[in-house]
Amino acid sequence: MLIDTHAHLEMEAFDSDRDEVLKRAAEAGLAAIVTVGTTLTDCQKAVALARRYPPVYAAVGIHPHEVKGIDAGTYDALRLLARQDKVVAIGEVGLDFFYDLSPRGVQLRRFAEQLDLAEELDMPVIIHDREAHAETLRILRPRKGRLRGVLHCFSGDQAMARECLEMGFHLSVAGPVTYRKADQLREVAREIPLERLLIETDAPYLAPQPHRGKRNEPAYVVETAGCLAEILRLPVGELKRLTAANARLLFGIGGMESL
Ligand SMILES: [Zn+2]
Ligand SMILES: [Zn+2]
Repeated sequence: MLIDTHAHLEMEAFDSDRDEVLKRAAEAGLAAIVTVGTTLTDCQKAVALARRYPPVYAAVGIHPHEVKGIDAGTYDALRLLARQDKVVAIGEVGLDFFYDLSPRGVQLRRFAEQLDLAEELDMPVIIHDREAHAETLRILRPRKGRLRGVLHCFSGDQAMARECLEMGFHLSVAGPVTYRKADQLREVAREIPLERLLIETDAPYLAPQPHRGKRNEPAYVVETAGCLAEILRLPVGELKRLTAANARLLFGIGGMESL
């Protein structure tokens, strides 16, 4: 009934107890989890997890932190991975001008190239934008109508939300919406049309209240769902159903799998 559209189950943080994490996710009512690669190695792990666990789906792409390591073979490898079973998106790709772990010029170029890949493969894209709102919009604008996908853990203002929605994107809300000081985020969440709203954990990062500061895991998406339902004045079951239906449609996730 509930889909976590963005987690990093392939990361080392889950190596010691991945089975239990997935078990708790099932107990929390999750029907599917999209696990999102950030390096080529992690993309391979994500695809392997999707193969192993029925409710897990994978996205493959190189995170802005890691794009400095892209070489000639990377795109061929991503192309091959993208064709594997249960790979549902290109991502995460984008810009991170907060940490600047890759030079900005490299981030811009690699983001554009990976958007080209999503267009070429006709797959949705999962976009990471941290402190790079204007540049993100500038790269997306000329591609209007050629891309579909989601701005994950959306952190822009209402004007940016409007423009992204206008371009056809979904917006995904993560744990920070539950934080006490996140009034702007809650304002923006209120403006997202229900048919474009997704929900995620970004586990192991960004644990929602009351787990803040701990390792995040997909089961905790329930807290974010509860908070969002309150903000939107919807029954929580309705919010879970709607966001799961949106995720199924965007990522082409079937309706029959369950944990
Ligand atoms: Zn991200
Ligand atoms: Zn992420």
